Amino acid sequence: MDDSLRPPSFQPAGDVEELSFGGSVRPGRTPRSSFDDFDAGNGDNPNNPKRSHLWVRVVVGLVTAALLASGGGWTWWMWDTRWRPIDVTVDSGTGAETVRTHVGVTVDVLLERNGSFGRMPGRLLAIDGSELKADGGGSVKVTVDGTDVPHGLWSDTVVPEHAAVTVANGDDVTEEHTVRHDTVAFGTDDVDLTGVIQRFRQAGRNGEREVWVGKESGIEVDKGLTEQPVEMIVESVTPRPAGRKVIALTFDDGPSQYSAPVLDVLKEKKVKATFFDLGEQSLAWPDAEKRMVAEGHQVASHSNTHPNMPDLDADALRAEITDGFANLKAASGVETTAFRSPYGAFGVKQWEAAGDLIGMNVLWDIDTRDWSMPGANAIHDAVMKDAHNGAIVLMHDGGGDRSQTVEALPRIIDDLRKQGYEFVTIDQLIKLSGK
Ligand SMILES: [Zn+2]
Repeated sequence: MDDSLRPPSFQPAGDVEELSFGGSVRPGRTPRSSFDDFDAGNGDNPNNPKRSHLWVRVVVGLVTAALLASGGGWTWWMWDTRWRPIDVTVDSGTGAETVRTHVGVTVDVLLERNGSFGRMPGRLLAIDGSELKADGGGSVKVTVDGTDVPHGLWSDTVVPEHAAVTVANGDDVTEEHTVRHDTVAFGTDDVDLTGVIQRFRQAGRNGEREVWVGKESGIEVDKGLTEQPVEMIVESVTPRPAGRKVIALTFDDGPSQYSAPVLDVLKEKKVKATFFDLGEQSLAWPDAEKRMVAEGHQVASHSNTHPNMPDLDADALRAEITDGFANLKAASGVETTAFRSPYGAFGVKQWEAAGDLIGMNVLWDIDTRDWSMPGANAIHDAVMKDAHNGAIVLMHDGGGDRSQTVEALPRIIDDLRKQGYEFVTIDQLIKLSGK
């Protein structure tokens, strides 16, 4: 090598072993160089000091060079894979912007250093849509070069140089829920018990409602009917046949020994009436029952044993009605669903429980109170005082001493007839009224 090309540090300085660092030039050999200090344990061989120092210095130099070389490589590698600035394009919903980051950046780091570019995770919503947690929903949504990067892959996904990144708000997530089905009781608004004759038109049926219950919030949301309830319908009829002057005589609690005298009067006066008979009495007086039918009267049921129906549970109520009709049929041969509840007592609950068993519950317009034995005149006067077209008159041919009823009956019929009344059965009354 031409000495003129050498850097100053390599100019001969007298001693071949001299090493130079950082361009400094040692002015001459010194007995103990700084490197000698490294060899303090085994150097300074008195027999060959120069040779010993030489080897040490060569090894140290080689190691240093290797370190520097490898250090440079590491630096370069870090530069190329970790530190080198790169640009990516980020669109967070307000237009693309160029973002300076570094090579090898992962999605999670890019978002963390840039505040997720202003985007937010979705909310966790309660089942009713109210907010349970502001950030409990889906994570911020990221795509890199058109590919979705799920949250779980953010830390493993490197964003390439010049990548097109989109960042969007996370989706709201609604809490999980359980589904419950509640019974919706059918309505009774269409149960009209204001009329003198009440007829069962439609059985009620319960519906069903679906309710969602939030698993976290416990909030309930009505999702509406899954099965529509069916209203119970009982209609009321108060017959007033147009252009007529009719009246219906009715006799309860029989048959008994007073049925025959009553039937005798009716036969003599050529009047048709209606008998609301007890099932057990019908069985006890089957001849009276058959005579009523034979002579053109209407027979109907007044229950089997005359209980107060509201005191009965549903099963007993139904049994009373069913047995009453069955015994009436056994005694009279007549199958009917015409009914008068004892004391007239038959409310919404009874209609719910047994409305399907009866076609109608027949009440009355005129109560003679003959059962209290007020005297034949009082019974007669009670009818005449309130007589009107379509009236239903309540009397009794059973349940006690009905001699006053038998006594009053001929005059009641005669006086009504004088006023122009015709006598009809309940079925005839309903038919005449067109209902
Ligand atoms: Zn009665």
